[in-house]
Amino acid sequence: MKVLVLGAGQLAKMLYLAAAPLGVEVFAVDVTDNSVLNPVSRQVHEFDLAFAIEEAKAITVEFEHIPEPLLELVEASGKLMPNMLSIMAGADRVREKYLLAQNGIANCQHLIIDNVDQLEGITDILGDKIIFKSSRDGYDGYGQWRMRSASDLGSLHDTFDKLDLRKVPLIAEKMSLFDREISVVGARDAKGNICCFQIAENLHYEGQLHVSIAPATKLTKTIIFQANDIFKRIANALEYVGVLAIELFQVGDELLVNEIAPRVHNSGHWTQDGVGTCQFEQHIRAVLGFGLGSTKTPYVNAMVNVIGCTSFSRDLIALDGCHLHWYGKTLREKRKMGHINVVADNYAQLGDKLIALLEHLPEESFPLLAGEAKRLQ
Ligand code: ATP
Ligand code: MG
Ligand code: MG
Repeated sequence: MKVLVLGAGQLAKMLYLAAAPLGVEVFAVDVTDNSVLNPVSRQVHEFDLAFAIEEAKAITVEFEHIPEPLLELVEASGKLMPNMLSIMAGADRVREKYLLAQNGIANCQHLIIDNVDQLEGITDILGDKIIFKSSRDGYDGYGQWRMRSASDLGSLHDTFDKLDLRKVPLIAEKMSLFDREISVVGARDAKGNICCFQIAENLHYEGQLHVSIAPATKLTKTIIFQANDIFKRIANALEYVGVLAIELFQVGDELLVNEIAPRVHNSGHWTQDGVGTCQFEQHIRAVLGFGLGSTKTPYVNAMVNVIGCTSFSRDLIALDGCHLHWYGKTLREKRKMGHINVVADNYAQLGDKLIALLEHLPEESFPLLAGEAKRLQ
């Protein structure tokens, strides 16, 4: 049985690795040239995209920014999961905000900016701490501009003047003074069964995810209920099939949706070593209708991204509970090169293990790790 994944990065690779034991083969499509390849060996197949679409039992995506003609072609096969509506809701922040509004789901106060003149008086509505986000093609904090005071408006005006806002509007979002960021990652199958993983707490640095802790510490019943309820409402509204991730800001006892990702997600990578059925296997199960696996989480987990760095001691894999997942990509600044999952019996032990891990890592590439380890200890 074959699954075709649009996109050929590390998420396609990890889908391949999780699908193999189920007797499922994953093909990936490099969306820059539509070639079909093995996402682990990176060997390009001789057959073309049309053949791969024909052969596949299900077709899915590893990221949301897929060229629309390709999405339409695949949607026409009737095998695309999640559906195009869901993928577009993740790819286009205007659609995403519309989806949230339609379903009455709380998110940051915002305006849609499709003309620079709308910047006039914006601080009266949103205050003077605003984050502007391109509605398309942003990830890892790219395509965002932060306004820290009203005096930034002039230079932002000049920057936005050069953009085609009518074609690609901006979302101007009030900066949220959240207590922390969490995410809920889960799966829905075609029968409507829903199964969420434990909620993760996510630590970002310069707009990029660096560390996740799962289950998040200090979760209250209210927060767990709200996060799972938001997941259910969004997944059902989209008739979603597959793994879906929802990024949330926690403000006191309230949750605001930051964004949704219609795919397996970085904040769910800890499930590879922390749960019997990881998010990658769960996604394959969901799109093929195999039935969802158990998400029971016996331990506590950390996921540490290795970003823009290859200079660390491979000895870390000898540490108890440490698991390296390396993507095999060429080094670039701020590029996610791999991640390390750490599994422990309790949070204090997890803190100790992260301190031990840090001895094998260059501290400058892991700016949040020491502080988080100490907090957990
Ligand atoms: P991803 O790689 O997760 O797709 P992205 O580029 O789509 O990221 P966002 O998730 O929208 O960007 O924003 C990146 C980070 O910036 C958030 O995780 C959060 O830390 C911060 N951020 C975004 N929006 C706001 C906001 N309204 N208020 C405060 N911080 C914010
Ligand atoms: Mg995003
Ligand atoms: Mg995000």
